[in-house]
Amino acid sequence: MADQPTSFDLVVIGSGPGGYVCAIRAAQLGLKTAIVEKRETLGGTCLNVGCIPSKAMLQASEKFEEAAHHLAAFGVKVGKPELDFGGFMAHKDKTVKSNVDGVAFLMKKNKIEWFKGAASLAGDGKVNVALNAGGTTTLTAKNIVLATGSDVVSLPGIVIDEKTIISSTGALSLTAVPKRLVVIGGGVIGLELGSVWQRLGASVTVVEFLDRILPPMDGEVSKNMQRILAKQGMAFKLSTKVTSAKTGANGVTLTLEAAAGGSAETLEADVVLVAVGRKPYVDGLGLDKAGVKLDSRGRIETDGHFKTNVAGIYAIGDVIIGAMLAHKAEDEGMALAERLAGQAGHVNYDAIPSVVYTAPEVAAIGKTEEELKTAGVAYKVGKFPYMANGRARAMNATDGFVKILADAKTDRVLGCHIVGADAGHLIAEIAIAMEFGASSEDVARTCHAHPTLSESVKEAALSVAGRAIHM
Ligand code: FAD
Ligand code: NAD
Repeated sequence: MADQPTSFDLVVIGSGPGGYVCAIRAAQLGLKTAIVEKRETLGGTCLNVGCIPSKAMLQASEKFEEAAHHLAAFGVKVGKPELDFGGFMAHKDKTVKSNVDGVAFLMKKNKIEWFKGAASLAGDGKVNVALNAGGTTTLTAKNIVLATGSDVVSLPGIVIDEKTIISSTGALSLTAVPKRLVVIGGGVIGLELGSVWQRLGASVTVVEFLDRILPPMDGEVSKNMQRILAKQGMAFKLSTKVTSAKTGANGVTLTLEAAAGGSAETLEADVVLVAVGRKPYVDGLGLDKAGVKLDSRGRIETDGHFKTNVAGIYAIGDVIIGAMLAHKAEDEGMALAERLAGQAGHVNYDAIPSVVYTAPEVAAIGKTEEELKTAGVAYKVGKFPYMANGRARAMNATDGFVKILADAKTDRVLGCHIVGADAGHLIAEIAIAMEFGASSEDVARTCHAHPTLSESVKEAALSVAGRAIHM
């Protein structure tokens, strides 16, 4: 059954942080907006199987770890904590539900119509929707935004069954704590979800192809995080590749080789988490038929202002170039909606923070030392250890440091790299500083409350000019 076309100023395909934020901002600016989402709930990867469930599990597993190992040092005796696995998972499910329901509420509040089904481009500003409930409908739109996000990838010869060989999605809904978890890929997902299951009792080995974990991060951060995670019990096999995975009655046997080639060894696991990156997701969109171009890495090609090569079709978020981060997708959604409404939205790609929610957290923004060296930029380094911060001592959270990189001539802040408790919150200060083109002296002369971890940021800024007070 084909319904009558329904007309909109804007049809957004995909309701992740890119799509739903774009739809809300467009509706706020007076555009008649529809969103098409094929999942049964709104919020995309981020809210359903990404940021939100993983953070709920990280938070809950940190509480378990704290009760088991860290409260006694504060003089708090709780005995041996017991894991209520059902309760643990229920916390994650409840967190996801309240977030996806929140987005559904926001759609209603902003009078955005949700078409529940899979969208495909039908040419001439038309979008066909194969409705989940059965049947199809066709929408017409002055503008169409593709916000279809990304999907998991695997390795040649390794088949993800989401039971014993799992992706991040499977790692969010295991039915028991595995004894031996092998993580392929020492990136963000591997370290975050590896940490969750390790805290709950799994023995975790990370196999990473490159010679360091968190490869795009500042080298000093990677090195320190590996040391800290190893101290927590995580094992690492760097410069190593997995060449095969065989599932048997007792789990999975992985065959490993040095990345550069060499003799093979085997590694046994009960569960294997494949976390080697994600790919843009464009399946079923009908891009070919619509003539929308992809770049060499399968991402939808845009002109830097979200326009594709086809008039009236735009793209944002994980499906285009740039960091696959929820806040990057959100900011693109907002900027694009403003452009479509005749305003001047933009995203500053030089000031997008990224956070790894391990314990301690890692947070970064701007350039790394390696990038500045490669670009031949003269820079100064200011560093301050958590060990010298009064609040960090009170929290028993003395692992880590704040590092600020500033231009040697102008003192402008070029980057900041933090390993330490609450790094994800602390980096926001530097994001604002960079947006305002601040110097390290500006940060250093800003009054920071005492006793807070944020004083480490001030001290790192002071240290750029060699005048840190507390070290
Ligand atoms: P998505 O969130 O992927 O949403 C796209 C939506 O489009 C999906 O719901 C999909 O069903 C829908 N869709 C696709 N095709 C169609 C179609 N044809 N018709 C209808 N609907 C369609 N980022 C962070 O910044 N912080 C984090 O802590 C973080 N943690 C993460 C943890 C995990 C385990 C994972 C996997 C990712 C994490 N990310 C995190 C990354 C983050 O989830 C993504 O960057 C973000 O979701 C991208 O948003 P998006 O709107 O581009 O797409
Ligand atoms: P990633 O790019 O962060 O890490 C993948 C890792 O796998 C890299 O270290 C890479 O060198 C390694 N690798 C690649 N091929 C390999 C192989 N054959 N053998 C062994 N190692 C190999 O990707 P991810 O961890 O899968 O995460 C995907 C995306 O999701 C990322 O872009 C990230 O931005 C996003 N994400 C963000 C957060 C966050 O912001 N906290 C959390 C989770 C995911």
